Amino acid sequence: MTQPTSDGRDPLVVVSGLNKHYGDLHVLKDINLTVGRGEVVVVLGPSGSGKSTLCRTINRLETFEDGSITIDGKPLPQEGKSLAELRADVGMVFQSFNLFAHKTILDNVTLGPIKVRKMDKKKAEELAQQLLQRVGVEKQANKYPAQLSGGQQQRVAIARSLAMQPKVMLFDEPTSALDPEMINEVLDVMSGLAKEGMTMIVVTHEMGFARRAADRVVFMADGEILEDATPEEFFNNPRTDRAKDFLSKIL
Ligand code: ADP
Ligand code: MG
Repeated sequence: MTQPTSDGRDPLVVVSGLNKHYGDLHVLKDINLTVGRGEVVVVLGPSGSGKSTLCRTINRLETFEDGSITIDGKPLPQEGKSLAELRADVGMVFQSFNLFAHKTILDNVTLGPIKVRKMDKKKAEELAQQLLQRVGVEKQANKYPAQLSGGQQQRVAIARSLAMQPKVMLFDEPTSALDPEMINEVLDVMSGLAKEGMTMIVVTHEMGFARRAADRVVFMADGEILEDATPEEFFNNPRTDRAKDFLSKIL
């Protein structure tokens, strides 16, 4: 049994002693990060600091050399069927929406539950309709991705991830590719999820969201976690020069 987090939560994602290289580049340096059940952790840091690599490694889209990652007590499998199941437990939403262009919105959302979760089609469609409603795009169910705005497509991408009933959701700069007027509609869906108790790891440059929604802020630079603090602590009193410099540029 892993120790509870400092605020008493049951640990859901535990990354310990994680190291990863891309050739000569030491991209993740001894990363230790525990995310409790229901916790929202926002990951901040300059471009190139390893935030995306960390997300992709937690989702096992990338390999790593040493250390360990467990999701709900289970170590990350290397390959095979258990890997597909693990990926289903870890939902991921990327900057680019990655919807299947030749499938309808409804089919985009039902595909995973039918193929991976072996849900029957009717059940999957009911679930998809509920989720599309929750993210506010239920009227678009029979359209194709290209007929939707970027903000609507990203909300569909969130619904599609939720349809797998993940234990944790990873968001990697989900609003960075959106026109400014669409950013809030996506952040609002994410804030709603956070309030409902979803465990979330969110890489974002939206400082307002970080202040409002985060239980904790993790600041990365050059492959290292330099700060791990509450949003109040981090924004009001950053400890490292790197974080001070980052905040002075972004705020
Ligand atoms: P961030 O998301 O914080 O901007 P990334 O995780 O994308 O950072 O990248 C961290 C570093 O790893 C960068 O220096 C980047 O150029 C490098 N990198 C990312 N992906 C690869 C890859 N597939 N092969 C080689 N280097 C990579
Ligand atoms: Mg990135």
